[in-house]
Amino acid sequence: MSLLTSYSLLSYHGQQVAHRWLGWIAISNGAIHSIVALSFGRPLEHKGVGVSGLVASLALLAMIILSPLRLYARTYETTVNAHVALSISLLGSLWYHLYALPSPSWLGLIYLNTAIGILVIGCLLSCVHVLYRSYRTGWHPGVLSIRQLTDAIQITIEVPRPWTFRAGQHIYLRVIGMGIRALWQSHPFTVAWWDQNRVTLLIRPRGGFTRRLLLYSGCRLHGLVEGPFGTEHDLRPYGAIIMFASGVGIAAQVPYIRRVLEGHDTSQACTQSIALYWQLDSEGAHQEWVKEWMDELLRRDMHYILSIFVFVSGNYNDPLACPRGAECFGEHHRVNRIFGDLDVTTTLCGELSNRRGKTAVVVCAGPAMADVVRHTVRNALRRNVTLLELGVWPGPSGGGPMIAVPPVS
Ligand SMILES: Cc1cc2nc3c(=O)[nH]c(=O)nc-3n(C[C@H](O)[C@H](O)[C@H](O)COP(=O)(O)OP(=O)(O)OC[C@H]3O[C@@H](n4cnc5c(N)ncnc54)[C@H](O)[C@@H]3O)c2cc1C
Repeated sequence: MSLLTSYSLLSYHGQQVAHRWLGWIAISNGAIHSIVALSFGRPLEHKGVGVSGLVASLALLAMIILSPLRLYARTYETTVNAHVALSISLLGSLWYHLYALPSPSWLGLIYLNTAIGILVIGCLLSCVHVLYRSYRTGWHPGVLSIRQLTDAIQITIEVPRPWTFRAGQHIYLRVIGMGIRALWQSHPFTVAWWDQNRVTLLIRPRGGFTRRLLLYSGCRLHGLVEGPFGTEHDLRPYGAIIMFASGVGIAAQVPYIRRVLEGHDTSQACTQSIALYWQLDSEGAHQEWVKEWMDELLRRDMHYILSIFVFVSGNYNDPLACPRGAECFGEHHRVNRIFGDLDVTTTLCGELSNRRGKTAVVVCAGPAMADVVRHTVRNALRRNVTLLELGVWPGPSGGGPMIAVPPVS
């Protein structure tokens, strides 16, 4: 389905909302149909039409009952797989239900067969897509190496073919060699960095698959990759870009900075300044997670439009480092590290009052920071400020629900 929906230009959140609404429309249609059919007083037939209709209704009912379990880490995978199985039985029973009618509705059959056809083609294309992206020759798919970092995991995938990515895109990763359970799981991750034949992901360990990855730190395994999915927001027309990230939210921001700097090099971007504010829990994470990428971005930033402010709120390398102390790195003081919490409201109000022209405020952060950014932008009441909320922030470590960020506003 991701393959089909990735061409719909809907964000991940938009796709989920569309999926949910289409589901509710199907359920309400099914419920009305069943009530009308039963209210005509016809007894439920035990064969053919009746049984297939009953199976379809039960499949829909089971979907409604199961769907809330998707919110819990422990039941996520089971719920998703059960949803797929129920959808297949729903389509099968509906197909039989329509064909078994004494006078089949040809229009209904055309609709259903078209839907089944699209689904089957989508599944086949997905398989071909995964094989194309993961295999070149031989039996083994792309190699991936897992590295444990402070509070995060970095996965580097050696892709068999050169790949072009855009900012804001994600891939689905299935790892081979971590046991049967992991083989069934396919997880979405934002592409944080890429070059000719390597793709790098930055992952926050949570409660299931991502925590298990820690056990394989330092190993080289194989992985099946599907994607990339998702569309890029064009930031090049904005004169000023102000970015906020917390934790691994930086994985979604780095590609955007890269794309704007590329646009600047080719005179396709109007951007005059990019200010990145990044809140981190541990000092070690700053250098470990993104040093190479930041160095590369600073090297590309020929016109010195990029300023990076890293706020470290604890776990200092030097326990005597005093909160609110600050240090600068690199030429022209473009990277600043501040020991203490980021005051989003004051920082954003200050930035907005200093900037003129079309401004984009881009956020990929936890709910607390995202809320403050949203609220401050709303209060800024300037017509030329646009708020972009990127991707899905993976949430705190552990198994709590993932934070689905609403789409661009
Ligand atoms: C478009 C997108 C991009 C993402 N990019 C990143 C990224 O760059 N870095 C990062 O650390 N995380 C990212 N995530 C979140 C990441 O996919 C989840 O944290 C991960 O799948 C959780 O796996 P788990 O088994 O360890 O989770 P668990 O601890 O078992 O579950 C935690 C929560 O994660 C969600 N979840 C579990 N399995 C899946 C799955 N197969 N697909 C989707 N959600 C699932 C459920 O909401 C669940 O409640 C992204 C998610 C999306 C949708």
